[in-house]
Amino acid sequence: MDADVVVIGAGALGLSTALHCAMSGRSVAVVERQTAGSQASGRAAGLFKSVQADELRTRLARRSITKAVTFADWAGLPLAVASCGSFLIARTPQHRQYLEHELAQSQRWGVDVREATPARLAERLSYYRPAGDDYALWCPEDVYIEEPMSLIESCLAACRRLGAAVAEHEPVIGIPVTAGRVAGVETERRSISAPVVVDAAGGWVRQVAELAGVSVPLAPVRHQLLITGPTAQVDPDDPIARVVDAAVYLRPARGGLMVGGFEPDPLPVDLREQSVSFSTDDLPLDLGVLRRMADQVAAEVPAAVTAPVAEHRGGLFTMSPDGRFVAGPVPDLPGLWVASGCNGSGFSSSLALGEALASWITTGAPPPGMEAFSPGRFAPLPDDALVSRGLWQYAHYYDPVLAPTA
Ligand SMILES: Cc1cc2nc3c(=O)[nH]c(=O)nc-3n(C[C@H](O)[C@H](O)[C@H](O)COP(=O)(O)OP(=O)(O)OC[C@H]3O[C@@H](n4cnc5c(N)ncnc54)[C@H](O)[C@@H]3O)c2cc1C
Repeated sequence: MDADVVVIGAGALGLSTALHCAMSGRSVAVVERQTAGSQASGRAAGLFKSVQADELRTRLARRSITKAVTFADWAGLPLAVASCGSFLIARTPQHRQYLEHELAQSQRWGVDVREATPARLAERLSYYRPAGDDYALWCPEDVYIEEPMSLIESCLAACRRLGAAVAEHEPVIGIPVTAGRVAGVETERRSISAPVVVDAAGGWVRQVAELAGVSVPLAPVRHQLLITGPTAQVDPDDPIARVVDAAVYLRPARGGLMVGGFEPDPLPVDLREQSVSFSTDDLPLDLGVLRRMADQVAAEVPAAVTAPVAEHRGGLFTMSPDGRFVAGPVPDLPGLWVASGCNGSGFSSSLALGEALASWITTGAPPPGMEAFSPGRFAPLPDDALVSRGLWQYAHYYDPVLAPTA
């Protein structure tokens, strides 16, 4: 079998890249070790966030929101999106200052974001009781996708309609290199020749790149969320809320409340120490982490601590040393591309990132700004430094501007 482009991994990033390559008329094969969306993507909270730490990611995030909301128009298949907006909330002077900074820069970058009074917060967010001195920003552009698998299923169906072959239960076990360039992939069943191979293997992206002798510095880190049972304390039309000083996010989910967040001491997971068959289903979860996060907002969001837990799920973020995507061609090995470095935003950025990568792959020209995500931008890093930087980025998801530069 031959293809113009082979994508390794049928998560949100791989499928979006495949879909946009297929839309450009390329023959595409997607090869997935398990089933589409079964790892990080199918477990995401589904949140899209227009306020980002830099202009490039802001542009991508907003482009993704537009693409999600208009999915049926360009992909030809329905996708349910909750266009509910979001509040960013700060309860400490330090975090208020941080949000004021985000307000000014995001407005400069074109985002619709405004200050909201505590009265407005109380009126719009039924599950949140402001203490009175909360500082809040209203972000009307923000959306969520209730069930993350719906994005995966729509992308998968759109890929297949355009003739892309998507093979599941077929791990890639080799990436042959001929005359200094990538020649395709070897799976457990066959060889596929292709001049372009995209490594979109999520938490496994590093091991997959190593099949071609390439080092990609990414560290998998566990992330978890819970969904409560249905409760009258949550209006299904409520917006998303992000309490930045607690690093907690909340949204309506299945008649209850979704609670997730970024703990200060997250769990790194070295997949090279796990068995070959390790999957996200084997990841140990810890409800205690989420209980501690919920406790931090108990006064404002009683449902977070009183409603029974109906679902607890988790998966892997793929963290980069600088908290930014790792996406683009691998230097020194023509034909190999990476679509990763999600840093917790890969689901929501996938539609724009896949579009940008496909444009780069098919035209040869990087879309504006995209070279900043080059897999070749990092100096060699020992593993412990890679992990500690990834953990730092994770723990500071809502205040990355304070990142150390060393
Ligand atoms: C609990 C949780 C909540 C989250 N919430 C959000 C959110 O609200 N918003 C947001 O933007 N992001 C969120 N994220 C992050 C988001 O899920 C990820 O950024 C995104 O799903 C990454 O997509 P991916 O395609 O890179 O990875 P994945 O979805 O993990 O896909 C990679 C695929 O590659 C496959 N693969 C691996 N090795 C091989 C191989 N050798 N051969 C073939 N296939 C292989 C895997 O089986 C997998 O299916 C969340 C993550 C978690 C865990």
